[in-house]
Amino acid sequence: MDIELKDIGTRNWVKTWLALRCFKDAILPFMKDKCAEQYLKDISYIKHLSGSKAYTCNLCKVDELKPPKKKKTNKVCPDKGSCGYLCDRIIDLHVKNDPNWSNTNSEFWSDDTRGPWERIKCFIHTSGYKEKKDISEADITAFVQICTSNELLKTAFGTDLECLEKVRDIRNGMCHSGSMAVSGIDFLTYVRLIEKALKLTIFDGYPSANEELKKLHTLEHDNGKVTIEDEMTAREETIEAIREVKKMLEQQVSTDHFKKEIANLKSNEDEHIRLLEQRFIYIEKHLLTLQEDHTKNKTRLEEHKKILSNIQNGIAAQHTTINEIAVDAKKI
Ligand SMILES: [Zn+2]
Repeated sequence: MDIELKDIGTRNWVKTWLALRCFKDAILPFMKDKCAEQYLKDISYIKHLSGSKAYTCNLCKVDELKPPKKKKTNKVCPDKGSCGYLCDRIIDLHVKNDPNWSNTNSEFWSDDTRGPWERIKCFIHTSGYKEKKDISEADITAFVQICTSNELLKTAFGTDLECLEKVRDIRNGMCHSGSMAVSGIDFLTYVRLIEKALKLTIFDGYPSANEELKKLHTLEHDNGKVTIEDEMTAREETIEAIREVKKMLEQQVSTDHFKKEIANLKSNEDEHIRLLEQRFIYIEKHLLTLQEDHTKNKTRLEEHKKILSNIQNGIAAQHTTINEIAVDAKKI
């Protein structure tokens, strides 16, 4: 599995995915913090508004509550209307006042651990995040969508948001690209864009940004190992990413252009699956060869052991003879 990748184009392609992973790992702690900060503020706000001492409701379904601001006939949350107030709050903080409720599990909104993530998921406009239980399962696209749709984060980033969008575009480009290879120049351009994004002042004070910048430096100078296992992980991530991009396109109005895009993505997905299968076969063969070599070596080792044992027995026999001669010599 740790066989070094030699093909330059594939190596750069895998390194681009590794660089994108560095970006995600670097900003994850920041996203977690913002998610928790906003949640605490909102919970405090709705408690003041509703008069509820502790927000504990785990009954309300978001479909029954939405959009509480517009319809008076909606169900009122038994916890003094708290869930409805949180809905309102999320709508207010969405740049288009149009959160994506399909991603959230509102029964967990009051849960200290899961609540922050379930709340912020409403700012991801691509569907398909409902089953993702933790923020660490999210991808760059989701993070960028949260930062562009959430009024507070959008303001905090200002024009720097563009840097994040460029990183997202690299990821999307990788999904759309049918070549599965990246040139040296393109790789350097991508790494520098990712580095620029991680050096934004908003990430100051996050050690993860510096740690991942060091890894990016190693990738940039090709000082580390890039293995077949990395390639397999990159392909698995690509397949996952392609499925997300597909979902995003399928949510758009169906036009010929989008149909062609989706068909192109599907064919890329098929190709990655085929290459991944090819790698499995290669590794299986490699493991089989290793196993055969191991068996051969074991047999040869046994033979050497036998020879050594014979030599040791011979030496022992010689010692006995010498001792006998010595005893006989003493008698003379
Ligand atoms: Zn409720």
